[in-house]
Amino acid sequence: PALSNTCAMHRVGVRFMKFSSDFTRRNYSINAPISKIRNIGVVAHIDAGKTTLTERLLFLCGELRRMGDVDAGSTLTDFLEVERERGITVQSAIVSLPWKDHRFNLIDTPGHVDFGVEVQRCVRVLDGLLVVLDGSAGVQAQTLTVWRQAAKYNLPSLFLINKMDKPQADFSMSVASIEDKLGVRAFPVVVPFSRENSIDGFIDLIEGRYLNLSHGNESEWTQVKNSSHEYDVLLEGRENMCLGLSDSDELFSSIFLDKYQGDTLKVTREDIIAALGRTSLSRSACAVASGSALRSSSSVRPCLDLVCNLLPSPQNSSELVKKSIGNHFSGLLFKIIHDKRKGRIGYTRVYSGELKGGSHVWNWTRGEKEGPIELFEAQSDSLDPIKSAKEGDIIAVRGLEKSLTGDSFISIDCDKRIIPEENAGSHIIFDGIDQPDPVFYCSIEPPDMKKRHALERALKELVVEDPSLRVREDTESGQTILETMGELHVEIVKDRLVRGYGLNVFLGPLQVSYREVVQNTVEHIEYVEDTVDGRTYSASVKLRIEPEEGLGKWKKLKMDLPPGTRLPRPDWQQGLREGVSSALHHGPLLSFPVYDVSVSLLELNVSGGKVGANLVCAAAHKCIEMGLKRCGVRLVEPVMEVELTLPADCPSQSVLHELTRRRATIDEMSGDDERESKIRATLPLSSLAGLSSAVRTLSRGLSHLNVRPIGHELLDGGEEMRLIKMRRTGR
Ligand code: GDP
Ligand code: MG
Repeated sequence: PALSNTCAMHRVGVRFMKFSSDFTRRNYSINAPISKIRNIGVVAHIDAGKTTLTERLLFLCGELRRMGDVDAGSTLTDFLEVERERGITVQSAIVSLPWKDHRFNLIDTPGHVDFGVEVQRCVRVLDGLLVVLDGSAGVQAQTLTVWRQAAKYNLPSLFLINKMDKPQADFSMSVASIEDKLGVRAFPVVVPFSRENSIDGFIDLIEGRYLNLSHGNESEWTQVKNSSHEYDVLLEGRENMCLGLSDSDELFSSIFLDKYQGDTLKVTREDIIAALGRTSLSRSACAVASGSALRSSSSVRPCLDLVCNLLPSPQNSSELVKKSIGNHFSGLLFKIIHDKRKGRIGYTRVYSGELKGGSHVWNWTRGEKEGPIELFEAQSDSLDPIKSAKEGDIIAVRGLEKSLTGDSFISIDCDKRIIPEENAGSHIIFDGIDQPDPVFYCSIEPPDMKKRHALERALKELVVEDPSLRVREDTESGQTILETMGELHVEIVKDRLVRGYGLNVFLGPLQVSYREVVQNTVEHIEYVEDTVDGRTYSASVKLRIEPEEGLGKWKKLKMDLPPGTRLPRPDWQQGLREGVSSALHHGPLLSFPVYDVSVSLLELNVSGGKVGANLVCAAAHKCIEMGLKRCGVRLVEPVMEVELTLPADCPSQSVLHELTRRRATIDEMSGDDERESKIRATLPLSSLAGLSSAVRTLSRGLSHLNVRPIGHELLDGGEEMRLIKMRRTGR
């Protein structure tokens, strides 16, 4: 069943391999001051050309003597075998590269919805984005998703409209899609130059230079000559740019009028760059370059300068942090991988101070000391040892054995009291990374029972690396359950187990994870007793269970004890939490976890001080279990937003019919007989299976489908009854 949505999973026809796959890298380590560091994410919709671009940038910086090729499976950043084989990026790869006297930390992120968390945790530690669009498609769904995440962190961005060599490429359409869909003003700075309807090259409006595309990778940028056709395009482009900048930036407007009397020819590149930098920093506008990463690496060369000139250094965010922590080290762990030779490696962004190899650090999130640590410069598939890392940098750290993705660190000798507890979540102790809740699950079994422990160990590593993957034991069936984001996600997990760990696992069918939610508030009391060596111990617990929307997975036990009552002993509190949590794990309807529920302790009575945490735990468990039965529990299901693009002559009526048959609500429809039409609809994840192939058949393969999770909704009564009956009777 084609639950996944994009068609790029299997790329057919591997092109002739032009470059060999051995990489010759220059050994370097550039010790750039903070003002010269750029932490940049390369993000885009799948297939726009991120990996190809990254490869070209590495080449231009002298990091690679030969260029890899996605289609031949020889790129440096897609280093998992499965990525090379399928030509998709699954894990984000991190590479550091030198450009002029700058140091770039580039992160190539995956575009598939199944790997949304990969994108999100990277966006968290970046200072700017380089957004790559396919010039024949403009802004696509995943670009929008990443854009929304970037908006949360106020990241300035820069665009590259790639694949301009394609006959269907349309620069104006792509620029317009940035303005329309992302709502930000776009200033073209490198524009395509066409002759007789086919693309000839590119013109860099800032530098006044021209690149002829016909010489492929050998082409060089040359100064545009006066009174040529290129010159006319340059003039027109500059004029538009200066007028646009005058509109968006007051300072530029006054410089343009007073200093240059509105003459676009006289405006210096420095003044233009400064104005573009200000507008991108304020996120009021973005610079847009165009290029063809595949045809000519030189065409993406301006991107490197634009990154230096327009995107910010980590300085501002570091200054903010230093206001509270001074020059002490602080950092955030945003990604963990397991390296075959070096073991567990944590990618860390240093916010303030210096991190030294051999030292210990304090994990603030967990309240634990970690270390001694070793530091490496991130080189995607290889790690080069370094002695220390300064504020603003992103580096790989070995020795953080107990820490997890999203943890914050401070230096061990830093007075921990300078960070008040309530400050957690502000800029000092960095917001953790939102962990998405998996929407599918399936059972997983080792190839044979002898491999059981090996599988347990392997899964432990994978779960640490990938916060969107979970593993649990089904208490009823005794099976190991894998919770995942989607079909492609499970396939990748399986692939890694097979190749990375030699475990040819069996996977059960993929099923949708429902949740159970409570409808009413209930107060419930339960009593348990236990006899040990002839003595009877007892505990009674009274809890209030109430619905609280948006709370998600249950985390905290609230205290609502009668006035004057002391808080229960810490071990009893722990017992209460464990009992509540384990009972909420299996809802009364179909044993799915109970979400969006708030639990308060109203009373705890024990027979004496000898009562153990176990008994209190059992009482709390029973109290929730029985209480839930009175709460009017209902099922909710994950729902997805689907965006469909259909060719002009496609029978959209039959597609609409197909959608409604699958319980979809149509949110938006546009287009007519002449133009391609777009449909936006919401539908339950459970009825998504097979949709993409059904639509493809109806549209003779010309449709485009995009899916993203948007939350959970109550199942309607009939559907809920049908599901419960089916699951309980097995039919
Ligand atoms: P990603 O999914 O964004 O990482 O994209 P890839 O770099 O894997 O590229 C996807 C496909 O587009 C590959 O087949 C590339 O060869 C192709 N591609 C990348 N850049 C260009 C380009 O500038 N022009 C054309 N025509 N194809 C390109
Ligand atoms: Mg890629």
